[in-house]
Amino acid sequence: MFTRIVLIGLLSLLVTACGSEDSGNTSAAAVNNSKTYNWKMVTTWPPGFPILQEGAEKFAENIKAMSNGRLNIKVYAGGELIPALQTFEAVSQGTVEMGHGSAYYWAGKVPEAQLFSTVPFGMTARGMNAWLYEGGGLELWREVYKPFHVIPFPLGNTGVQMGGWFNKEINSLDDIQGLKMRIPGLGGKVFAKAGGSPVLLAGSEVYTALERNTIDATEWLSPFHDQRMGLYRAAKHYYYPGWHEPGTVLELTINERAWNSLPADLKAIVSNAAMAENVRMFSEMEQKNIEALQELKDREGVQLHRFPDDVLNRLQVLTKETLAEEAANNPKFKRVYEAYDAFRQKNNTWSDISENAYLDMKEEK
Ligand code: CA
Repeated sequence: MFTRIVLIGLLSLLVTACGSEDSGNTSAAAVNNSKTYNWKMVTTWPPGFPILQEGAEKFAENIKAMSNGRLNIKVYAGGELIPALQTFEAVSQGTVEMGHGSAYYWAGKVPEAQLFSTVPFGMTARGMNAWLYEGGGLELWREVYKPFHVIPFPLGNTGVQMGGWFNKEINSLDDIQGLKMRIPGLGGKVFAKAGGSPVLLAGSEVYTALERNTIDATEWLSPFHDQRMGLYRAAKHYYYPGWHEPGTVLELTINERAWNSLPADLKAIVSNAAMAENVRMFSEMEQKNIEALQELKDREGVQLHRFPDDVLNRLQVLTKETLAEEAANNPKFKRVYEAYDAFRQKNNTWSDISENAYLDMKEEK
């Protein structure tokens, strides 16, 4: 008898909870909350790619656990279901519900998308998170993807990348003239303006090209991923900072119709799991880079160099020129760039007297 009363009490509590959640429409909420969703996610990463592909898989596992198995996401690496660079298209058309990659991969289709990924001499992970989550960046990003029926979320960050591997020392701008370097995107355009010769190469071809001197230099990622690719065996001079990719934002994309089909609790789980994985992936990247940098220096005898100031200053001037040209040619790019740059400038003013000032002080000891 007692058990029965408790059960009835519990049931009425449940009904009240469901009802309040769905403004009185108890039955709709009850139906939604028992439905299981089986989704597919495609990524731009190679199978098993550490931190990035693994991070996408961890994100899916977390959602499964938090939703008690109501939202199951099967994750496919690039090429397993569709070619890596068709990820955006597949999510846009609803071939799959989710994608993971980075917005600059779609620059050919949506030039302003690269501003949500990374910009040479632009904001680091800290600034990008502040802009996207709290400074209006994410709303703007969603507006940009709206015509494609895609909803973006930040999901990971590479942190400041390295400047790349060079087969000779870079002591002045003269050393860049005619230099063949694998450097994609806006960074490649700036490098060309500086007299360099940017080369487009898929990740799988980078090592061989550098080893056989088909290229003189390459950027890839940061110590951990660069070490795994063995780039230190093909070139000895390792330059910093990664002026061209100061904090590349990785993105989760969700098909709009699929997103709208989710009940409110699953939506909350997805968006909070994305935020959690955004931080975790960035943290893993930082931790693994700390370890790998030490190994490259101590075990492999890699020579670390900072780019000379005149080289960095020139690249910075040319970056401003390149971005101004892109904006002049494309009103959509201009609109996003102006919002990005206004936040970047304010962020710099604050960073100069907070994080930068603090780090400078530590270095002077
Ligand atoms: Ca890179």
